[in-house]
Amino acid sequence: MSTAKINTLLPAPTWEDFLRAVRRGLRPATKLLEYELLGAKTTMRVGGPARVYAEPADLEDLRLLLRQAKEFGLPVLMLGRGSNLIIPDAGVEGVVISLAHPDWQKFTVQPDGRIWVGAGLRLKNLCGLATKAGLAGFEFLEGIPGSVGGALRMNAGAMGGWMFDVVEEVQLVTPQGELQELKKAVLHVDYRHCAELQEAIALGAYLQAPAAAAATTIRGQIETYQKKRVESQPREPSAGCIFKNPPEGSAGQLIDAVGLKGERVGDAEVSAVHANFIINRGSATSADIIELIKIIRARVRRARGIELEPEVMLYGQAWKDVL
Ligand SMILES: Cc1cc2nc3c(=O)[nH]c(=O)nc-3n(C[C@H](O)[C@H](O)[C@H](O)COP(=O)(O)OP(=O)(O)OC[C@H]3O[C@@H](n4cnc5c(N)ncnc54)[C@H](O)[C@@H]3O)c2cc1C
Repeated sequence: MSTAKINTLLPAPTWEDFLRAVRRGLRPATKLLEYELLGAKTTMRVGGPARVYAEPADLEDLRLLLRQAKEFGLPVLMLGRGSNLIIPDAGVEGVVISLAHPDWQKFTVQPDGRIWVGAGLRLKNLCGLATKAGLAGFEFLEGIPGSVGGALRMNAGAMGGWMFDVVEEVQLVTPQGELQELKKAVLHVDYRHCAELQEAIALGAYLQAPAAAAATTIRGQIETYQKKRVESQPREPSAGCIFKNPPEGSAGQLIDAVGLKGERVGDAEVSAVHANFIINRGSATSADIIELIKIIRARVRRARGIELEPEVMLYGQAWKDVL
């Protein structure tokens, strides 16, 4: 019997095989769970479980997970603070990796003045620590409920500032496990997008503080931005802006103009405070939100001839496959 023939008779590797292979090498500090519910790890609070969920404690364990996932042909998905995600009701059949371990949340001012921020650091903590250190220019990030990793992937922005305005260099690991440090100049960064991080995983970044200022001055600016947010954004669970602003103007204004504030599918509702937000009234499902997104797109297309493109991500799936 030829080898090829023997191989066709072998069963396909299973999730159990993957788990056995990684468990052998992972340190005890690394969290590895099956069927972990993801909805509670997102700001929208919808969606099912991850087949496998891991919080690697260090780079070696992260690389081991990547290597084995590749070996077994399993998809890997990064999870930050889940503030820009719709998790499908059925969950994701993949290896979801979160850099929630404290070692990925560092904020360190380097001797050359640059600031190292780990990808797992919350933007809110970045702002707080920068304020304490008298480093100005990060205030615009304060109300964005994401992590550094998610903000790099999305080139998050607010109040006229963008994440990549303050980035000098990104440290990442490729799906093949290769560690790279890439200067901003070589990265392909756009509106809510960093091409290199579509596949690679951001481990952290070196930031350049635009200016120095007294902590009280920085705090004053943060409070101004906080006030603006409180006045213009809903308090209920959401994933932030659902659509990117089209070249024609503000997506929120367009949705409002076609009369969709308050439109509802199940417990998913177009916010009356900001029409580009869909809020979860309590027990919305991912299917409700997707249906509401379809309604909004169809109405805006019909009334204005504009095709709204989602800014929010559908976890593990492409919008074009469901819209
Ligand atoms: C109330 C509210 C207000 C918001 N306001 C703003 C705003 O003003 N401006 C703005 O830009 N956004 C805003 N958002 C959206 C969201 O907070 C940002 O997009 C944020 O950058 C997402 O970060 P995250 O850590 O939550 O990423 P997640 O939502 O967890 O993930 C987003 C994407 O990043 C990827 N990712 C996560 N971590 C990594 C990593 N380490 N390496 C590579 N890829 C990674 C994920 O796979 C996913 O594709 C808002 C959201 C809410 C709920």
